[in-house]
Amino acid sequence: MQYQGVLKKMVTENLDTVQYYLDMKSDFLNINQLIGKQIEMSFVTYECLNCHLEKQIYRQGFCKSCFFETPNAGDWIMRPELSKAHLGIEDRDLAYEQKVQLQPHIVYLANSSNVKVGVTRKQQVPTRWIDQGAHEAIEIVEVPNRYLAGITEVALKEHVADKTNWRKMLKNDIEDESLVSWQEKLRAFIPDEVQEYFIENNKETTINFPVEKYPEKPKSLNIVKEESYTGKLVGVKGQYLIFDDNTVFNVRANEGLVVKISLV
Ligand SMILES: [Zn+2]
Repeated sequence: MQYQGVLKKMVTENLDTVQYYLDMKSDFLNINQLIGKQIEMSFVTYECLNCHLEKQIYRQGFCKSCFFETPNAGDWIMRPELSKAHLGIEDRDLAYEQKVQLQPHIVYLANSSNVKVGVTRKQQVPTRWIDQGAHEAIEIVEVPNRYLAGITEVALKEHVADKTNWRKMLKNDIEDESLVSWQEKLRAFIPDEVQEYFIENNKETTINFPVEKYPEKPKSLNIVKEESYTGKLVGVKGQYLIFDDNTVFNVRANEGLVVKISLV
C-alpha cells in the first residue's frame, strides 16, 4: 500500500486512547493501525497550504509570500495579545480576523513536560492539548475574544512556563501535577478585566497517547535532507510519530511537504 499527499497536522479524536488520522488526499489513514509496522516515508516536493504552488515552505506550512500575506498567518496567531479585531482594527483582513478572534477562547494549563499556560479557541479543546502531547490539562478562564485570552497568558507567563520541552515530552519524563491547585494559585495574577471569566469547580482532562515504546534519546528526522526514511512505528504523541530507533518526526512542523508513505 502506498499513499501520497501533502502533510497537514494529524486530525485527532480523544477516545480512551487518542486516535490519529492523516489526510492523504485519496485516503484517510488511521495512524494507530500502523503502530508496530515498518513504514517507509519519502520526500517528494513542496505544496504551500495556502496557494498550493510547488514552492519551498517557509513557516507553518506556507511559502514565504503566503506567510507574510495570508490572513491566517498574522502575528496575532502566535501572539494573541496583539489581536485587534475587538477594536475594529484590521491587521490583514478584518472580516477574517473578526470571525476567528471574536469567539470564545480558553486560557489553559497543560502538562506535557512541565506545566505551561496556553491559549486556544474553545472549539480547539482538547485538540490543542493533544497536539502538544499533554497528558493532563485544565481550562483556567473562558473569555469572549482572543485579545482577553492573550493578555491573560502574558500575565500568567510571569508565574508559569509557556513552552514545552519536546524531548522530555517524548521521553515521557513526566510528573502528575494537581492542575486544580495550579489554577487556584494563578488566580490572583489574572488581569482585573478577566477575573469575571474564571472557571470555578473545574477538573482536569487526562489524555492517553498510543505509544508502545518511548524513545530514550529522541532524534528529529529531517525528511527533506534525508529524502527517505524507513523504520518501525512504535507510537504517536503530540504531533510526533515515534519510531523504534529513537527517530521522531513532527508532522506539524513539516506541513506543506508532499510525502509518500508506504508499508514495507
Ligand atoms: Zn503560498
